[in-house]
Amino acid sequence: MLSSRRSLILLLSIISFAVASSSIDLSGLLPQLSPHASVTDGSNLAAQRWTEFDSPTPGATVNVATEQDVLVTVQYCIRENIEFLSQNGGHGWSTTIHLKQNGIIINLGALNDVTFNKAKTEVTVLGGALVSDVVAAQFANQAIVATGTCNCVGALGSALGGGLGNLQGKLGLISDSIISLNVVTASGKSITVTEKDFDLWWALRGSAANFAIVTSVIMRSHPVEAAGLTAWTGPLIFAENKLEELVQAVDELFLKPEMSVSLVFVSSGPPNNTAQVIASVFFYGTEEEGRQAFAPLYKIGPLVDGTTIQPVTRWNDANNSTCVKGERKQTFGAGLARMVPATWREIYKEFQSFIQLSGSANSSVVVNADSLVELRQIPEGSSSFPFRNTINFHAFTVAWYADPALDHRATAYGSNVRDLWRSTSGLKENSTYINNAYGDEALEVVYGHNLERLKALKRQFDPYGRFTQWFSLAD
Ligand SMILES: Cc1cc2nc3c(=O)[nH]c(=O)nc-3n(C[C@H](O)[C@H](O)[C@H](O)COP(=O)(O)OP(=O)(O)OC[C@H]3O[C@@H](n4cnc5c(N)ncnc54)[C@H](O)[C@@H]3O)c2cc1C
Repeated sequence: MLSSRRSLILLLSIISFAVASSSIDLSGLLPQLSPHASVTDGSNLAAQRWTEFDSPTPGATVNVATEQDVLVTVQYCIRENIEFLSQNGGHGWSTTIHLKQNGIIINLGALNDVTFNKAKTEVTVLGGALVSDVVAAQFANQAIVATGTCNCVGALGSALGGGLGNLQGKLGLISDSIISLNVVTASGKSITVTEKDFDLWWALRGSAANFAIVTSVIMRSHPVEAAGLTAWTGPLIFAENKLEELVQAVDELFLKPEMSVSLVFVSSGPPNNTAQVIASVFFYGTEEEGRQAFAPLYKIGPLVDGTTIQPVTRWNDANNSTCVKGERKQTFGAGLARMVPATWREIYKEFQSFIQLSGSANSSVVVNADSLVELRQIPEGSSSFPFRNTINFHAFTVAWYADPALDHRATAYGSNVRDLWRSTSGLKENSTYINNAYGDEALEVVYGHNLERLKALKRQFDPYGRFTQWFSLAD
């Protein structure tokens, strides 16, 4: 008892010291926070983000430890008229995030529990959990849950914009697995949202960052035998002159529910910095089934076959190199209905040229093709994700570099690549999955046909524009 009081006193003195160096007066908030919460100045590591390009520069970070901490922090910010931004994994790259020294980050990172019910049919994911937390919990509980393909990304940060994952063919979007959401609203109330809450339920699953802070969700999960925790996956590396054939094959490949594939360009690294062409394949089943399903890619003749059976804890390994935080990363995305070989050749050339710039060897081009079978059985209007029946491929390029002097070159490169994708996208309108968008897009590009309904709901649920950092719907 004595030691816990002592640590509380110590904690409060650390908090007071940290707050003293911040430009925002949070002294009224401190007594309301739980003992394990903390407040630090804006440059604290807890707030370090995936990209430093155009990133927020808050005056302070509130590191919450309970769902109640989120509520009291939001209520305090509303009362004191302080701008705030919730942070889950810190990987949001949109240039719309513009928090200044008079604003605070509500860092959800310590809210990272992932707990299953006894039957393993439902899982509660707290608002700060990362994809890696969900992956570890799946393994420990022998259950499958829809989640993203990069361990470092926020589990809810990615899910709440729709959520793409490699089990999409079987489970739909990550947000399609949500059963209920605990949220703190723009009016500073804590509520639980289920399908009975018609409008908010629809809006939160696809556009949540505009309406509330989601402190936890309950999602469907699927108990499995040991074999159900493994998949056949890995890279197939192709000679550059096979690019057109490969693009054509990916365009024509019918993806069964168990399948997903990403076509990737990365640099071979210094001194040559040659762009490598990789197809990263995934089959939720046996090696034999996987090889058969991806026969059209094998027919082209990969130079290297790195595929193997992997446990769920290794499925995301190939993406760990993109998880590094810091440095500058400008990321441009586009949705595609089809893959056009000539366009991809042009993009290859742009990429090859960009990675010759000093310090840009970690850049990449990625296009994800996930099975659309389950996704398209779920009605279009069931959530605010707008591209269920239009986008077949989600593409993005990360221009990654360290020197701010390259900012303009990186913007021009990313913008050119996006123009190339758009020029042959096969879509009637430019459309980009919101979590892949750069930040300069017209709102129609990320919200599609849902824009007017979302704007009306924004007026109803967030009339004072408390949530404006994420492709703002505020008038
Ligand atoms: C390396 C990498 C891999 C990726 N892989 C995938 C993938 O496999 N599938 C996929 O769909 N996307 C993927 N993305 C895109 C990703 O979904 C978006 O970048 C997403 O915004 C990141 O969420 P975050 O929590 O990490 O970022 P943050 O910057 O913390 O959050 C992004 C935005 O969401 C808001 N937000 C975060 N948490 C909450 C919450 N609990 N309640 C309300 N609002 C919240 C924040 O306020 C912010 O506006 C990837 C991105 C990167 C950089």
